[in-house]
Amino acid sequence: MALINEHFLKLPNNYLFADIAKKVNTFKTTHPRADVISLGIGDVTQPLCPAVVEALHSAADEMATKDGFHGYGPEQGYDFLRKAILANDFLPRGIHLGLDEIFINDGAKSDTGNIQELVRWDNTIAVGDPIYPVYIDSNVMIGRAGILEQGRWSNVYYMPCTRENGFIPQIPDRRVDIIYLCYPNNPTGTVIRKEELKKWVSYALRNDALIFYDAAYEAYIQSDEIPHSIYEIRGARKCAIEFHSYSKTAGFTGVRCGYTIVPKDVTASTLTGERIALNPLWNRRQSTKFNGTSYLSQRAAEAIYSPDGKAQVRATIDYYMRNAREMKESLTKMGLEVYGGEHAPYLWVRTPNNTPSWKFFEQMLYGAQVVCTPGVGFGPSGEGYVRLTAFADHDATLQALEKIKNWL
Ligand SMILES: *Cc1c(COP(=O)(O)O)cnc(C)c1O
Repeated sequence: MALINEHFLKLPNNYLFADIAKKVNTFKTTHPRADVISLGIGDVTQPLCPAVVEALHSAADEMATKDGFHGYGPEQGYDFLRKAILANDFLPRGIHLGLDEIFINDGAKSDTGNIQELVRWDNTIAVGDPIYPVYIDSNVMIGRAGILEQGRWSNVYYMPCTRENGFIPQIPDRRVDIIYLCYPNNPTGTVIRKEELKKWVSYALRNDALIFYDAAYEAYIQSDEIPHSIYEIRGARKCAIEFHSYSKTAGFTGVRCGYTIVPKDVTASTLTGERIALNPLWNRRQSTKFNGTSYLSQRAAEAIYSPDGKAQVRATIDYYMRNAREMKESLTKMGLEVYGGEHAPYLWVRTPNNTPSWKFFEQMLYGAQVVCTPGVGFGPSGEGYVRLTAFADHDATLQALEKIKNWL
């Protein structure tokens, strides 16, 4: 008899975006003439930039020749891309990494989900709340999260991120083993400053904890005051693993490529106290379970670092950030309390009069025909907020703002 991994059965089967789609479809069926605009999606909308498209074409042409054909590549990724990452994302910030500390991935979702395979099932994990659901759900699947009681997992230490604490969690007043941080944050769109991030690194070093740092939105940061990488903080290379993605940076949600940094100095302990480096473990894990990101995707990613690529990628980010700026300005003028949107493509909007997230979602759908994402879908502390994204077309964004204004 094959026995199931019953931890999967603990996962609630309602999926946030499926629930939203269902409610939007119901509305569209009963209001066939309504013009619904979505500011709810977490996907980009603008096409790949010309430098990337050119690289894809030429990589495809190469693959069509006997000499240029590429089969299985290195599981860790091609050196041409790893070198470009070092030279552009790290060296200019004074961060020195070895090529073998960079692992090319097929997107940050896979690796933020997979990384927990390296640590024992009985570690305690701490997460910001609200949060990108992958961190918790991947831990649920192997039984580390405990059981779900009133919207909370019994073995997860929730760190509320609220307007009272500026959406930066309080340092835990007890020991935890693993901390997930994501800045710029999805869903709140808020950022962490160096002084704050320093406190987390020293907590981790003091308590022998690991930090899994998700930097998927790093490219949206508009100021040098805000760290693009946790390795800007001294000591982080002893305690932090960092995830990057080209999905939001360069519209790679359908291309699939990113990278994960596992410094050689990051270690964890055996039960008998022996220190084990995680870099060789991750290398082993990847070599066993992953056959590399496609050559085409990696050539496409390399093109982002060319002078043309950089300018074109920047232009698209500026396009989204103009949406974000205009959204924040208008919504604030309408009397709403709006957070984020300055260094991230997300705005975190407090619902008026403490209206529950889902109720506000329906009110806005029926009143303004605009779709948002209920904040409570990202965790208990998201109750009373909704997330709006700046990824829509500029015209659609302006129309949505007009509709919200008329409705309010
Ligand atoms: C979109 C997103 C990612 C990136 O996912 P990919 O698999 O790279 O497309 C990672 N983390 C967060 C928080 C995200 O919102």
